[in-house]
Amino acid sequence: MSKVQQVTVLGATGSIGLSTLDVIARHPELFKVFALSGFTRLDELLKLCVRHQPRYAVVPTFEAAGRLQAALIGAGLGTRVLLGEDGLCEVAAHPEVDAVMAAIVGAAGLRPTLAAVEAGKKVLLANKEALVMSGALFMEAVRRSGALLLPIDSEHNAIFQCLPGDFSRGLGAVGVRRILLTASGGPFRQTPLEQLQAVTPEQACAHPVWSMGRKISVDSATMMNKGLELIEACWLFDARPDQVEVVIHPQSVVHSLVDYVDGSVLAQLGNPDMRTPIANALAWPARIDSGVEPLDLFRIGQLNFEAPDEQRFPCLRLARQAAEAGGSAPALLNAVNEVAVAAFLDRRIGYLDIASMIESVLNQEPVVPVNELETVFAMDARARTLAAHWLERNGR
Ligand code: NDP
Ligand code: MG
Repeated sequence: MSKVQQVTVLGATGSIGLSTLDVIARHPELFKVFALSGFTRLDELLKLCVRHQPRYAVVPTFEAAGRLQAALIGAGLGTRVLLGEDGLCEVAAHPEVDAVMAAIVGAAGLRPTLAAVEAGKKVLLANKEALVMSGALFMEAVRRSGALLLPIDSEHNAIFQCLPGDFSRGLGAVGVRRILLTASGGPFRQTPLEQLQAVTPEQACAHPVWSMGRKISVDSATMMNKGLELIEACWLFDARPDQVEVVIHPQSVVHSLVDYVDGSVLAQLGNPDMRTPIANALAWPARIDSGVEPLDLFRIGQLNFEAPDEQRFPCLRLARQAAEAGGSAPALLNAVNEVAVAAFLDRRIGYLDIASMIESVLNQEPVVPVNELETVFAMDARARTLAAHWLERNGR
C-alpha cells in the first residue's frame, strides 16, 4: 500500500462502524476517514467527526443536517454535511474515495452500497441484506465495474481466507467440496421450545458471544442471520445452496471452514471480535494489527459442533428454501424479516411470530425472475405491504 487510503464509513455510528473506526485509528499512516454517516445517533456522529475530521458527514433529515452543521462549525471543523440517500451515494462513489465500509443495516444500505460497487471501489461488505436482496444484479455490477468486494461478515471473511486466490474460477475447479458455515446458535440454543414465544427483545439481543446491533442480534437468535449468510455465501463464492452446510459451534472461535475434495478442511480461527475481519479486509492482502487479543486455545479448551435443529430454527429452513427458489424470493424473505424483527423489538409480536409472519407472506407471493433493480425494490415494497397486513391481523 503506497498511499493513505481514503475510507468512507457508511453506518459509522453502529457496531461495525465503530469497530472500523477503531481499526482505522490504529493506522493513521494507512487510512484516513473521508466520510461518515449516521441515522439516529447524531450526538455520536458529532463525536466521531471531532475525532476523525472527515471531509463529509451524512444524516437523514434536513433538520438533523442543520443541527450537525452548526455544531461542526462551532467545533471549528470544516466537515460538510450531506443529506439522505443521495448524500450516502455521493460519498460512496466520490472519486477521491478508495474504500467504502458498507455497514448500514438492512435494505436501506442497498443503493449506497451499489453506488460504491458501480464506482469500482474497494467495497467492504458488512451489509449482507444488500447482497441477499439483489444478489445476481449486485455481483454483475461488481464484475462490470471491477470493484474489489471483500466480505466483512466473520464467516464469509473466514471462507475468503480459506479459499485460494483464484476461487472465482469456480468452487469445483479449485477442488472445494463444500463450505461449512459456522453459527453460534444464539441465546436460545438450549431454551425449552415451549418458553420461546415469551422471550423478550432484551433476551434476544443478549448474544452469548458477539456484541452487535439489535437487528442482527435478533436475526442471530432466530438463525435468520445464518439463513441470510447462506444466501450471501452463495453469491460471494458462486456456490449452490446444497454446497453450504450450517454447523452450530457455540464457542464462535472457528469462523467457518472450507472442505476440499482431498479431505483437507481449512478453517480460520480467532477471538470473536469483528475488528479481525475488518482489519483483514481493510489491509488485504497485507496483515495489520487489529487490536484483537491473541487467541488463547488453552483457555478455550474445547471446540464443539452440532447440527442445527430445524424445529427450533424455522427461519433457517425458510431462508434455505428462498435460496433454492432464487429470483425474487430472497428479497421478499429479507423485507418481511426486517418488518418482523422491528415488530418483535416493538413488542407487537412474539418471538415465534417472526417465522410465522415470514412463512405466511412467502406463501402468498409467487416467485418472479429479477432482471432489474426496480423489481428488487418493487418486491421489497410488496413484501412490506403484505407484512403490514399480517401485522394488522395478528399483531398487538
Ligand atoms: P447497528 O444497528 O449497530 O448499526 C447500523 C448502522 O446503520 C448505524 O450507523 C445506523 O445509524 C445506520 N442506519 C440504520 N438505519 C439506517 C437507515 N435507514 N438509513 C441509513 N443508515 C441507517 O448494526 P451493526 O453495525 O450490528 O450491523 C450493520 C450491518 O453489518 C448489518 O447489515 C449487519 O447484518 C452486518 N453485520 C454486523 C455484524 C456485527 O457484529 N455487528 C457482523 C456481521 C455483519 P444510527 O446508529 O445513527 O441510527
Ligand atoms: Mg456473521
